Amino acid sequence: MQVSAALRVEASKLFWAHPEAYFLVSAGWLIDGAHPAYTHWDLSFLPNVQNVLVDYHVGTDRAICPLYDGVMAVRQGRITAFWNSLTKWFPNVKRIVIDQNWLSPPWNGESQPVPRALRILSQSSSLDIQVFAFIAEEIEGDPIACSASIPSDPPCQRSLYRSSADGVWARAKSPQPWKTILPPARKFSGPVGKVRGLDHEDTLTHLQHNGLWPLMVEALDRHHFGMGNNNPFSCPSSTCDAYFQKAGEWTVHAAESHYCDWFTKDRFSMLPQQLRVEFEKREKALVTKEDEIRRVYTELRDDWREGGGRKQREMKHGWMEQLEQDGAWNTGTAPEESRLWREFLRDMENTGSWQ
Ligand SMILES: [Zn+2]
Ligand SMILES: [Zn+2]
Repeated sequence: MQVSAALRVEASKLFWAHPEAYFLVSAGWLIDGAHPAYTHWDLSFLPNVQNVLVDYHVGTDRAICPLYDGVMAVRQGRITAFWNSLTKWFPNVKRIVIDQNWLSPPWNGESQPVPRALRILSQSSSLDIQVFAFIAEEIEGDPIACSASIPSDPPCQRSLYRSSADGVWARAKSPQPWKTILPPARKFSGPVGKVRGLDHEDTLTHLQHNGLWPLMVEALDRHHFGMGNNNPFSCPSSTCDAYFQKAGEWTVHAAESHYCDWFTKDRFSMLPQQLRVEFEKREKALVTKEDEIRRVYTELRDDWREGGGRKQREMKHGWMEQLEQDGAWNTGTAPEESRLWREFLRDMENTGSWQ
C-alpha cells in the first residue's frame, strides 16, 4: 500500500508516537538477549515505538541481582544485555517505564522507595531517554483476604518515580496517564510457529478472560453514571452497605473490597440482567476458544506419542530445519540445545494437562 509521507506522520501521532501509548515488552526477553524466537511480537514494528513499558515480572531481580546469603551479586552482563536489546529493537525509544507490580524484600533496611535491583538496572543505562519506575509501595491499612487459608498481601499503592541523571529518584508528580498496548503479533509460520502461535492465542485468551473483571466493574459504573445518567446506587454485594454518589466511586470500592467476589461461581450476579447476559455470552465464547486451543494442542501431542519414532523424527527434523535456517526463529543457540526445543520436548512428554 502506498501511503504519503505526510499521512504517515499524522498517523504515527495517533499511534506509536502518541504520548500515552506504551508498548509492552518483557524484561526477561531483553535480559536473555531478545532473540526473535522468544517473542510473540512483530519485530518489524518495534523500531517505530517511542514509549516502552517493561514488564519487570517476579523473579527479574533474581536474574540480574541474585542474593547469596544476604549479599547481592550484580550480574552486569545481563544488565548490559537488557540495554543492548532495548537499543537494538527499539532504536527510537524516548521513554521507558519499568513496571514492578510486586514487593521486593526489603534490602538491608534501606528506606529508598525504588527497590535496589531496579535502581541498579536503570542506572546502567547510557541512553539519553527518560526512565521511570512504576512500583508497588506498602501502605497502612487492612489487607484484602480472599480466604483464611491464603495469606494476603499487605495493602499497596502504585507509585511512579523518575530517575534523574545523577541517580536520584523522585516521585513523578503528575504522572502522564498511559495506556499499555500489546504490539502487533508476529507471523507464526512453520512447525515452530504452529506451537508458538497456540501459546500466543492461549495467552491472549487468558488476558481477555481476566479482563472481564475490570470490564464488568466499569460496565456497572457506566450503567449508572454513563451517557448522561446520574443514578446513585448501592453496592451490589448483599453483605455490604456502601453507597455511590459519583462516577468512579464504585470502581475504587470494587477494587478495594470486592476483588475476591470475582472468584465466586456467580461472578456476574452483580450486573443488571441485560449486561449480565452479555458478559455470560462473552465468557462462554472465551471458554470455547480455550477448549479449542487445548484440543489442537492435545492432537499435536497425541501425534507425537502415537505416531511412533518415525513421526517424532519427522517433527524434530521440521523444527531443527526451521530453527537453523529461519532467522525469524533464531534462538541465539544451537537448535537442539535451545530452550524453545527443550520446552517443546518436555510438553510433548508431559502427561499432565497443558500449562
Ligand atoms: Zn481463562
Ligand atoms: Zn461493597
